[in-house]
Amino acid sequence: MIINKDKCVGCANCVPVCSVGAIFIGADGLAEINRDTCVECHNCHRSLSPEHLPPALTRLIRRILKSVSLRFQPDPDVCPTDAFAPEDLEWPRIVRRAFSDPMVTHESTGVHGRGTEEVKTNDVSGRIKHGEVGLVVEFGRPGIGTYFRDVEEVTTALAKEKITFEAGNPVTQLMTDKTTGQIREDLLDEKVLSCIVEVTVKLEDTAAILGSLKQMSKTVKTVISIGASTVCDKDGSDPLRDILQNEGFGIGWAKVNLGLGRVANRYVSAGEA
Ligand code: SF4
Ligand code: SF4
Repeated sequence: MIINKDKCVGCANCVPVCSVGAIFIGADGLAEINRDTCVECHNCHRSLSPEHLPPALTRLIRRILKSVSLRFQPDPDVCPTDAFAPEDLEWPRIVRRAFSDPMVTHESTGVHGRGTEEVKTNDVSGRIKHGEVGLVVEFGRPGIGTYFRDVEEVTTALAKEKITFEAGNPVTQLMTDKTTGQIREDLLDEKVLSCIVEVTVKLEDTAAILGSLKQMSKTVKTVISIGASTVCDKDGSDPLRDILQNEGFGIGWAKVNLGLGRVANRYVSAGEA
């Protein structure tokens, strides 16, 4: 994202709407974007309505009013001079937008936002089977974001455990080697608002891997949120519950998928079509 300095009048309306604090008012009194911090989420461009006041006249009026301790301030939800100029992003920077702008679809998965349906479609996809646990490790959040270099620190450590990276996950698809968890070199300095790594583990290995993740979360330079899911036993009991409690994870955010998703074509599901 670029701010056109020829148009900007320095009203600062855009500063609080940036999801990662990348916009600031520079020494010249006009808005700037820290290019390294910006995750190309397009929130600034989307959330401020463009108005078309003449920049030179608006600056003059602001300067005159300021000299008599008055202020011309546009409504807080507008950019008065339509100063935002979205760029045509190229690789590797375009990856920032793919992970950070919820209005953009991941080319690799066809899913908006972070690009994965996670376990939400497990009834149909069958990614996680009885005796397995699906772990989602979410890196970053609005306000902080994450660099792929920090994600790789965890994926390379995870790869040494008994895990399988989910093949249909967009971060897995950025790996050069799924057995080592290494991510493409040209992406390591790219920053995104958040991304999700998905792994499948055996139920009996879950406690050890959760313990490792807890340790890693203390040193990695962003926030990590962990989600765990499994398939209930036939009597409806949840074999994951005790494991999570023993590892000190709360289960207050639990969701139960009631099985409303069904495979509509049994021939497709059986691989016969
Ligand atoms: S809202 Fe528009 S005019 Fe105001 S500081 Fe930001 S870019 Fe400049
Ligand atoms: S695109 Fe997103 S991160 Fe970049 S300046 Fe705009 S709001 Fe901030």
